Amino acid sequence: EIPEVNGDFYTLEKTLPPHEQEIIAQVRDFMEKEIRPIANEYWNKGHFPMHIIPKMAKLNIAGLTYKGYGCPGHSALLEGFLAMEMARVDTSISTFFGVQSGLAMGSIYVCGSEEQKTEWLPQMQKMEIIGAFGLTEPKVGSGVAGGLTTTCKREGDEWVINGQKKWIGNATFSDITIIWARDLDDQQVKGFIVKKDNPGFHPEKIENKMALRTVQNALITMKDCRVPESDRLQNANSFKDTSEILRLTRAGVAWQAVGCGRGAYEAALRYTNERKQFGRPIAGFQLVQDLLVTMLGDLTAMQTMVYRLSQMQDAGELKDEHASLAKVFCTLRMRTIVDHSRELFGGNGILLEYDIARFVADAEAIYSYEGTKEINSLIVGRAITGQSAFV
Ligand code: FAD
Repeated sequence: EIPEVNGDFYTLEKTLPPHEQEIIAQVRDFMEKEIRPIANEYWNKGHFPMHIIPKMAKLNIAGLTYKGYGCPGHSALLEGFLAMEMARVDTSISTFFGVQSGLAMGSIYVCGSEEQKTEWLPQMQKMEIIGAFGLTEPKVGSGVAGGLTTTCKREGDEWVINGQKKWIGNATFSDITIIWARDLDDQQVKGFIVKKDNPGFHPEKIENKMALRTVQNALITMKDCRVPESDRLQNANSFKDTSEILRLTRAGVAWQAVGCGRGAYEAALRYTNERKQFGRPIAGFQLVQDLLVTMLGDLTAMQTMVYRLSQMQDAGELKDEHASLAKVFCTLRMRTIVDHSRELFGGNGILLEYDIARFVADAEAIYSYEGTKEINSLIVGRAITGQSAFV
């Protein structure tokens, strides 16, 4: 008899209260029914399935951990499980959602004034307003903290923004984009809520991506883009405030990496029990089992790590280095897991219809975004040695 395929080997989900398990089950159902059947098609076309947004909104999970402003106020631990659940089927969809719920809503939740939170968060929670987050630039990625070149200058009741942003997820269709720019007067980094119809704001789709193809990333050019002072994030006063948002979303990316690894492991387990060579399922061969068990060991280590990470977040104990270590470790192990899985699929491993090729490609983007391995390692290194390698 073939056992049930389940990558939650240490039954971590069972430790959550029943009402949280119910929310996970709803998201799992949504991903299996609405996303899995279309995931490869949209990935291949490089289009985003806009029709899923209202259905996703019904799950009531955007801004999951925020309190007030129409947000559900659940735990970070539950949020992690949901990120894993989405990435387990399609990392593009979990990325789209992470930008909306974590980066865009998070910027307003952490750095917005009461009026700004009241104006935007309820609509974004219902996903009637879609957001994006523009920090990275064509020439400045890892070094954004000191190297941001997009500028803002106050002119009366307005700010004038000039510069470019690269890789901005959702920004080809988002209603608002959070733009981070350096103030020409005090040299500090400030954040702005920029609306899509602003005449100085020009997003252009980045074509020919080989990973996360369903996610729409934009190159944004801003030429004398005028934004009222009332749309400047009132509590974003320096890059430290921007980092606060990234710390939380980085924890989410670690969970996404776990989801991607879990999806790849579960696909491999299923496939090796179905695929026969030499007259028996390939899952019966010792070398195949060794690979499956290696994957499961990595996956279980990743899961237990992010579980504790989110507990620390819920307890208000999460520091940058905690999130960075999980991001580094989980994305590294994810890369190994998807490679092992692809290997077990043989030739079929490079065909889109078997899902695993998409996981292998998408893993590369997750590995690099929200801080590369090197940058997150240096954040941990600085914390444990007391020596900053950045300067
Ligand atoms: P670079 O900074 O040019 O790095 C190149 C290499 O140099 C890396 O290996 C890096 O680790 C290494 N390196 C750099 N500095 C050091 C150092 N001090 N020591 C050792 N090694 C170093 N950004 C947004 O603002 N919003 C988004 O929505 C968004 N979405 C994205 C989606 C995708 C699919 C991708 C690929 C990127 C996205 N990004 C987004 C940008 C992402 O965060 C950056 O790509 C990432 O921070 C790395 O920057 P970079 O690509 O410019 O690489």
